[in-house]
Amino acid sequence: MILLERFESLELLLLESLERRDSNEEIIDLLRRTKSGLAGERRVDTELNMCLENDYIVLRDLVLHYQTQSFQMDCLLLSPHFAFVIEVKNMTGRIEYSSEQHQFIRIRQDGTFDCFTNPIDQVRRHQTLIEQLFRKWNITLPVESAVIFASRNVILPSIQDGQMYHVTGLSYESKKLYEKHRSSYISNKQLLQLGQMLLKLHTPRIKKVSFNRARLRKGVLCSRCKWQSVMRYERGSWRCRCGVSDNTQLRIALHDYRLLWNEKISNSEFREFTKIDCADKAYYLLKKLGLDSEGKFKDKKYIIPANIWSERKRL
Ligand SMILES: [Zn+2]
Repeated sequence: MILLERFESLELLLLESLERRDSNEEIIDLLRRTKSGLAGERRVDTELNMCLENDYIVLRDLVLHYQTQSFQMDCLLLSPHFAFVIEVKNMTGRIEYSSEQHQFIRIRQDGTFDCFTNPIDQVRRHQTLIEQLFRKWNITLPVESAVIFASRNVILPSIQDGQMYHVTGLSYESKKLYEKHRSSYISNKQLLQLGQMLLKLHTPRIKKVSFNRARLRKGVLCSRCKWQSVMRYERGSWRCRCGVSDNTQLRIALHDYRLLWNEKISNSEFREFTKIDCADKAYYLLKKLGLDSEGKFKDKKYIIPANIWSERKRL
């Protein structure tokens, strides 16, 4: 049973909106890394789904706060036989790892390198937390952990303890765990209770993305022009000088407005944002969108829902 699903983060949606409205290199790079991380985690999710035996509970992107510290786990598998904490990495290049120095370095093809927080230390820290919680709750269940690399284009160092491997090895390694822990320590009822207790401690964290609102491009932008052209509302449609006429682009613009400016918009703010010159026309367009509103007359604000752009709604 998947008790906690992995969702696209608000950070990812924000970065996508920012890329449309202020496509600087820093945003593009952060968006690329965020998407790559999510793709890696989903690859491991798919592989893990094929390895699960009988009764299990999976919690993805679990964030636990314990004794003033925060622990974000990419995946926690609970079974009656063991618990398994997984840290996912989706990096490419050659990894150099020294267990003595606890140093973790990635060397790119061009020879440049980056130093990272050692993910093995990180996953061991998560494992220790789960062990502490189990002790506190009087639960006897062995806890295992591993760092799993999702990309095919990574060369891993050979280490003996089997705590770091490629996603293709997950099936073999999980079989080994089931063989190592044949006994059932808890009943199915206790397994579900345990999952729910952990879920109660889950406090999702919203990563802050800083941006300069003054730099953002306003208006209904054209997707065909890679968001560089502002569309105009003419003869009942949003039109771009490239020839595109597409009313969905207004919804995308309001989706961006919601994330980067405000969840509520007045008639005058709508006109200022979309370059509509007439209050009646703005009223007509807002009414056509079927948005809920609050306040009256000049104070009236329309509430932009999370699913204003249904193809890209936040779950
Ligand atoms: Zn265009």
